[in-house]
Amino acid sequence: MSDPYGQLLDATIQHLEDLKARGVRHVAVSPETLRALAQPVAGRDAPLGRPTEAPSHKSDEPAARPYQKATSAAFMSTAEQETLLTLPGETAPTQVPPLDPQTKAAAFAALRERALACVKCEHLAAARKNVVFGVGSIDAQLMFVGEAPGADEDEQAEPFVGKAGQLLTRIIQAMGLQRGDVYIGNILKCRPDTPGQSAGNRKPTTDEMATCIPFLHEQIDLIRPKVLVALGATAVEGLLGKTIGITKLRGTWKTYRGIPLMPTYHPAYLLRNQAMSEKRKVWEDILAVMEKLGMSISPKQRNYFLRG
Ligand code: URA
Repeated sequence: MSDPYGQLLDATIQHLEDLKARGVRHVAVSPETLRALAQPVAGRDAPLGRPTEAPSHKSDEPAARPYQKATSAAFMSTAEQETLLTLPGETAPTQVPPLDPQTKAAAFAALRERALACVKCEHLAAARKNVVFGVGSIDAQLMFVGEAPGADEDEQAEPFVGKAGQLLTRIIQAMGLQRGDVYIGNILKCRPDTPGQSAGNRKPTTDEMATCIPFLHEQIDLIRPKVLVALGATAVEGLLGKTIGITKLRGTWKTYRGIPLMPTYHPAYLLRNQAMSEKRKVWEDILAVMEKLGMSISPKQRNYFLRG
């Protein structure tokens, strides 16, 4: 295509393909833009009402999310468009009515079954003992997202049960909650393999994250927590696509599809760095989360990890 419109279209498609290659699965498009795209263009015989098809989706990925349906935006309501076409980290709270409890539980169970059977990352499927889907209440108002299971989690099929997990549990208890009151999940459902090593962890690759993240998106869509806490840089990267250092991001509210998201340090970092000041930073992030959730905070809780 050599006309300016064609060039713009080519550049847009290329840009979407680049985003897709980097793991982005939603793009923000205003309802006005969608309506404009759906208009027939002079000199062309087909309307361009197919922005929801790009980026395209592998046919064997977990259940297509609504925005991945090959539906012309011209046939979607404004609310649907606003809800379904959202860049991770940007606006648009979920406006679809919540599912009734039975349907929600069934959808969650079906999602879990699909995740447990997943072998898309062949190397991870071959190395794992268990798929670590997630744990906690599917009606939780608060959801913690970590990076990936480690050896203990792989062994026990439950996230955050090793040393870092025990610290997360203590943080949850310091909030006055139990693990069963919140939901805990990870960007990756399988332990990153470490061929040739008998122990150790590694960061998930971009490909592994992009392959697995649809499961987490669906978990969040079904649970609809009021607040998300991203534990560490990988969780932030997986949810928001941001690779800015966690030191800069922590303590600042972000938004994941309309849900307030608090980035904070991963508990493993606190195990490596035992300084009171670092514990206090995480605790301040947690106090902000408690405030956002309207939880009451005692003077004792306010003062945790303050010297003197
Ligand atoms: N670290 C994580 O990020 N997730 C777990 O489940 C355990 C340790």
